[in-house]
Amino acid sequence: MVEEVMKKSYNKSLKDCSNEEIYFGLLKMTKEMAADKVSNEGKKKVYYVSAEFLIGKLLSNNLINLGVFADVKKELEEAGKDITEIEEIENEPSLGNGGLGRLAACFLDSIATLGINGDGIGINYHLGLFQQVFEDRKQKEYPNPWITEESWLTKRDKKYKVDFRYHTVEASLYDIAVTGYENRTNQLHLFDIDSVDEKIVKDGIAFDKDDIEKNLTLFLYPDDSDEKGQILRIYQQYFMVSAGAQLILDECMAKGSNLHDLADYAAIQINDTHPTMIIPELIRLLMEHGICIKEAMEIVSNVCAYTNHTILAEALEKWPIRFLEQVVPQLMPIIYALDNEVRAKYDDKSVYIIDDEQRVHMAHIDMHYGHSINGVAYLHTEILKNSELNNFYKIYPEKFNNKTNGITFRRWLMHCNEELTALIEELIGSDFKKDADKLEDLGKFINDDAVLDKVLNIKQQKKTELAAYIKKTEGIELDDKSIYDIQVKRLHEYKRQQLNALYIIHKYLEIKRGNKPSTPITFIFGAKAAPAYTIAKDIIHLILCLQEIIDNDPEVSPYIKVVMVENYNVSKAAKLIPACDISEQISLASKEASGTGNMKFMLNGAITLGTKDGANVEIGDLVGEDNIYTFGDDSDTVIKRYEDGSYVSKDYYEKDSKIKEAVDFIVSDEVLKVGDKEQLTRLYNELLNKDWFMTFPDFEDYIEVKERAFKDYEDRKNWAKKMLVNISKAGFFSSDRTIAEYDKDIWKTL
Ligand SMILES: *Cc1c(COP(=O)(O)O)cnc(C)c1O
Repeated sequence: MVEEVMKKSYNKSLKDCSNEEIYFGLLKMTKEMAADKVSNEGKKKVYYVSAEFLIGKLLSNNLINLGVFADVKKELEEAGKDITEIEEIENEPSLGNGGLGRLAACFLDSIATLGINGDGIGINYHLGLFQQVFEDRKQKEYPNPWITEESWLTKRDKKYKVDFRYHTVEASLYDIAVTGYENRTNQLHLFDIDSVDEKIVKDGIAFDKDDIEKNLTLFLYPDDSDEKGQILRIYQQYFMVSAGAQLILDECMAKGSNLHDLADYAAIQINDTHPTMIIPELIRLLMEHGICIKEAMEIVSNVCAYTNHTILAEALEKWPIRFLEQVVPQLMPIIYALDNEVRAKYDDKSVYIIDDEQRVHMAHIDMHYGHSINGVAYLHTEILKNSELNNFYKIYPEKFNNKTNGITFRRWLMHCNEELTALIEELIGSDFKKDADKLEDLGKFINDDAVLDKVLNIKQQKKTELAAYIKKTEGIELDDKSIYDIQVKRLHEYKRQQLNALYIIHKYLEIKRGNKPSTPITFIFGAKAAPAYTIAKDIIHLILCLQEIIDNDPEVSPYIKVVMVENYNVSKAAKLIPACDISEQISLASKEASGTGNMKFMLNGAITLGTKDGANVEIGDLVGEDNIYTFGDDSDTVIKRYEDGSYVSKDYYEKDSKIKEAVDFIVSDEVLKVGDKEQLTRLYNELLNKDWFMTFPDFEDYIEVKERAFKDYEDRKNWAKKMLVNISKAGFFSSDRTIAEYDKDIWKTL
């Protein structure tokens, strides 16, 4: 098959082609195969609208979904070629920050896999989020260009006019084919403008934020810490939803909708508040088609549904009216009408769309004018209903529902861990690939020593592979016989990488005192910090300083090692996760809406060390307390502590000598010798005087439980049982299950 493609493309035999030629040949072949599976079936279509789609590299995944991966791999091997080296040629787009964007990508895979008629709508950011580089133990940001002459993007000859107050731009449509696993092909629609100019970027990721015609689709919401950045974000959001809304109406009318019956043709899922303006925009467009505002509001409510991803107040967008007036004045009359209707119905100010400070609460639009409001894990949805969004829950109890997140097993098992996939198939057959609950059948091997050995051997192989990869890419040597303890995710204080860092300091000091671990431990981090998030960057700096200090300390380096991998992204995740022994999921209880990293690790046989937060709670319920390590205060305790304002970090610091010595170490001479005084002092003061995400109250428990996990690791057979239980219970976290629930309860297409 590949031989033929190469012959046609380059008039050469496969064995004579370069990896680059092979990549582009396979790209073309895959696009053609995907195009053959495009389907128009299904009267009603789902539109998953999201400012982020963290799709990762696509070649291998598409080959898997098209059912030809094994054949292609074999043919390449026979010609002396290695598919993993060919994968390296592909650029990874960074069209998302982290979990939210990755979820959108997993969902598209599952929508196509379940045979649902459903497309994504987003933005074609030319330079993505950013590429992270460490210089002087600090994060530096550079553009992440990913679009090449030939790529997964296909330009369509479709354009939509998008009007802003001072500009009218043309949105050009690009599509990326979304292949379902042995099923139909859907589309990810990404809008772009032709006038974007990558040359305006200089000095890292700085650019002129005023020049909309040149910068609109340059970066995924760049720095929005200032007014200009926020206004650019509004430009991007409206650009996406206006073009998207026009496309949706076009498609529905082409299928015979008279627009009054739009809900029979379209289900729009609003992924967090970023696409919220699609509600007033659709109302505006329906009015242009002669529908009165009252009916337009009703139609749109029946079409749109909202997913909430966070209870962090600062993440719920509130745009000042003057910003919206400046960018999209045509929406303001509609937004006022929506707000007036709400005010006429309810006298609770907290549910108004426009507040006393003349700000528009985007989530309030979604909740009043969408028919469904969902959280992303059981605990998260309960917190939304009972505290965070309680005033809305009282008005609309029937709109609230939970959809616990999931991950696609094609990428996070079949692609990233072929060895484990093969073992599972050998043990229980291949049904689990389409019916993830079948993984439960692995339970019957829990006392089978030969199986347990195989599970351990595969983990060892993935650890050795990761060590080789880190050596090659970062020049760092890992001990593949050490315990791999991994925390990879966006850098945020609520995720508490600083708690992990404090533990490492504690361990370092213990080793200095002669208390050496019997098995060496490698602490692996990976995390990007938002460019304007100062404390997050300080935490990265501390971790990189610890890495350096420990490496250069011969008393300690035989026992522990710290590695922070650069530029954590989907491809790095796919290499790190299968190699993990202990999965760090240590967010402050109540703050992590769900997490999906936790699910990927579990599926690959890592044991969770986590708080009772997000989907960790459901993982714990499924595997039982012997197969997870939980610690720390629960969400009720945390929420109460916030409510009564009783938390004083300094009290803990003064009472607890372990906390004190670990925190003091941050500004000790040893660290200051390799680190930046300003950054380290700022972090020290932040912890001492604020510690907003309450690391100190959980610290002692964290140490105790983590030590227990390291000790348990040494009983290899028992550990292998825990691994097998985790793998066998991971079926619930297939995004196929999540999407089946969205469809049954919200979209109703099948
Ligand atoms: C899954 C994933 C995330 C989300 O991780 P969490 O631990 O749930 O925050 C972030 N980034 C990448 C690259 C991922 O693959």
